[in-house]
Amino acid sequence: MPEPIPWARATSRVVGVMGHPIDHSLSPLLHNTAFAELGIDWVSVAFPVVPGAAAGALAGARDLGLAGLSVTMPHKAAVAAAVDRLSPLAARLEAVNCVVLREGRATGENTDGGGFVDALGHGAGFAVAGRRCLVAGAGGAARAVVVALAEAGASEVAVVNRTPERARAAAALAGAVGRVGQAAEASGMDLVVDATPVGMGGAGTAVPTVDPTLLGPSQLAVDLVYHPRRTPWLTAAAEQGATVLGGLGMLVHQAARQLELWTGLDPPTAVLWQAAMAATGD
Ligand code: NAP
Repeated sequence: MPEPIPWARATSRVVGVMGHPIDHSLSPLLHNTAFAELGIDWVSVAFPVVPGAAAGALAGARDLGLAGLSVTMPHKAAVAAAVDRLSPLAARLEAVNCVVLREGRATGENTDGGGFVDALGHGAGFAVAGRRCLVAGAGGAARAVVVALAEAGASEVAVVNRTPERARAAAALAGAVGRVGQAAEASGMDLVVDATPVGMGGAGTAVPTVDPTLLGPSQLAVDLVYHPRRTPWLTAAAEQGATVLGGLGMLVHQAARQLELWTGLDPPTAVLWQAAMAATGD
């Protein structure tokens, strides 16, 4: 007789990731690895929730007694509008990537930007305070990064985006240190972040916003894309002598912060990192 899945019991606390599509998500793998490492009776599963169904899915999660949810595309804004309470950061971003469900109340949080800053420290020993930063892109990920950089004490956060009005809105989130920038300014920055999907390749997405030949030694280039682990833009930046970092660290650290919000425990970040590397190995 086949063995039942050892961690799924009637007593298990259940969390899940909701998104569409969701088959590619690494969240269940990361969170289940962490639960096993911590030796706690928790389980994470993936929920394919079609566009428009986020509020109903959240209500169902609440009624089913789930402990929390990770939230990914395309539901971050819809969940922000549907929770009982938003953290100040999630309210500012109008986007939720993590829901904590406790005593029938849903609290929306956002761990993307914090995970990004954690990844800079762990992956490159980069401290943000006093640094000049340029962010290419103005979507959900870029906005989280812009706010996190400002909160971590960046001296400047310049935003460059294909659609200028979205650049203005994203830059405004950084307050006094935020402004709309130009891609050509990249050579004078300490940190340059590509927060667009260009690095994933595919039709119409081949030209990066920032010319990587503008980058060089003493600069950190980060691409939020984690598949491939090293994008052509990062490879080109590394050839110029820049330190480079892919998006896997942000993925790991935002997941670690979610685990901490749900369980109150210190996340086993090194084990999460190993699991993420194994799952995305070439
Ligand atoms: P999004 O909300 O759809 O925003 C995409 C941004 O990229 C927009 O600013 C868009 O410009 C720009 N863009 C799209 N195609 C472009 C092109 N061909 N040329 C120039 N700019 C282009 O997406 P998102 O959620 O912010 O995600 C952005 C990337 O970050 C994705 O690759 C995603 O996988 C990655 N990500 C990684 C993590 C992680 O943990 N590592 C977390 C979240 C996201 P317009 O405003 O002009 O449309």
